[in-house]
Amino acid sequence: MKVYKFGGTSVGTAERFRALIPLINDDTNKIVVLSAMAGTTNALAEMSALFSDGKKNEAKNKCEAMRKQYHTVIDALFASETWSLKAHDYADEQFLYIESLFSREYSRHNEKRILARGELLSTVFLYFLLSETGIPSVLVPALNFMRIDKDGEPDYFYIRENLKRELAAVNDEKIIITQGYICRNVFGETDNLRRGGSDYSATIIGAAVGAEEVQIWTDISGFHNNDPRYVENTRVIRSLSFDEAAELAYFGAKILHPSSVNPARMKNIPVRLKNTMEPSDEGTLVTSASIPVDYKAVAAKDGITVLRIRSDRMLMAYGFMRRIFEVFEAYKTPIDMITTSEVSLSLTIDDPTSLEDIVKSLGSIGNVEVEREQTIICVVGDFRPGKVGSAPEIFEALNEIPVKMISYGGSENSVSILINTSDKTVALRSLSLKLFPEA
Ligand code: ASP
Ligand code: MG
Repeated sequence: MKVYKFGGTSVGTAERFRALIPLINDDTNKIVVLSAMAGTTNALAEMSALFSDGKKNEAKNKCEAMRKQYHTVIDALFASETWSLKAHDYADEQFLYIESLFSREYSRHNEKRILARGELLSTVFLYFLLSETGIPSVLVPALNFMRIDKDGEPDYFYIRENLKRELAAVNDEKIIITQGYICRNVFGETDNLRRGGSDYSATIIGAAVGAEEVQIWTDISGFHNNDPRYVENTRVIRSLSFDEAAELAYFGAKILHPSSVNPARMKNIPVRLKNTMEPSDEGTLVTSASIPVDYKAVAAKDGITVLRIRSDRMLMAYGFMRRIFEVFEAYKTPIDMITTSEVSLSLTIDDPTSLEDIVKSLGSIGNVEVEREQTIICVVGDFRPGKVGSAPEIFEALNEIPVKMISYGGSENSVSILINTSDKTVALRSLSLKLFPEA
């Protein structure tokens, strides 16, 4: 059994949808996990924001406009009247449901019900499309097996048992379709795995069924060695270890949801990144094997805030770090990067929601300085302890740029550097020239 996940752009138009048929109908047993059509979840989120602001009429108008767009897609998608009619009916049902929620009070739960519509629509369309084409498939609703616990983490036991039951009820169909992103929470309510979570659904499902491979299909041929939006002549990386892929995904490579590496690593399931526009491209294969190369890739993560805490009382004292970290724990704010000296500590966060409270609480420990609009540059490569002479190229490349923090030695396969976001493009380009001169 394999798991194939197709992202929003892979189902973004009627043509893209149809292009999936030969990819799916390749005679292997598979679970197909779909995202919502590109732009849909954003539009549903905007609708929910209007709803939450009490702008129900605007929300309704947006919903109506979207319903019309969907009907246009359906007209282009289906050749037969039978399946086209079924699809029109299903879309109407979904958009009417959203409108019916607008007549109720806004709640987080109603918002999640709205956000779930995109994946419900795309999967039904694929099921109808395959049926119209004469390819047998089964639709297994994710809400029947996908569940998160009270911390928002996948409930693996529940998922495995329930998916097993769902699959046992399916006769030997080769193609099983399900929704990415959506799930139930501990109360049994509709919830989701957070934005971009369809990749996560795919690897959770892969782990639950012990899949032979998980394929993540997007609109780019795998992980690149630098960000193609800012740097020319980037190259696709053929193979990465789980750890390397997790670092790259976390530090900005948009191709894969960072959490999605975990379930695959846990069960040692290879993850292959493929391009729906260029299906014959090899893409990137992520496995437990690591092939050490000095430098493999560079990625950048924006929206970082740095906090510098200085206290002379820190000199030769113990318990300081704990006191500082407790503040971040209290505000449920993860820390990305840390560097310390004898009397000061710098750290970065990417979620500034509780920044004001955090700074206030840290005030009792020392002086706090805050700087926003920072970027973490992550260089993935071979940084095993004891290795001689690998990093000079990084710092030569960044010679002309103010470097704010360097984290070396925390990971065997990455070095992180903090810079001003305004220096990012220059930094990425000059790193490519130095680290990947052959490209
Ligand atoms: N449709 C969801 C989103 O846009 C999930 C996904 O595409 O991965 O966030
Ligand atoms: Mg995605």
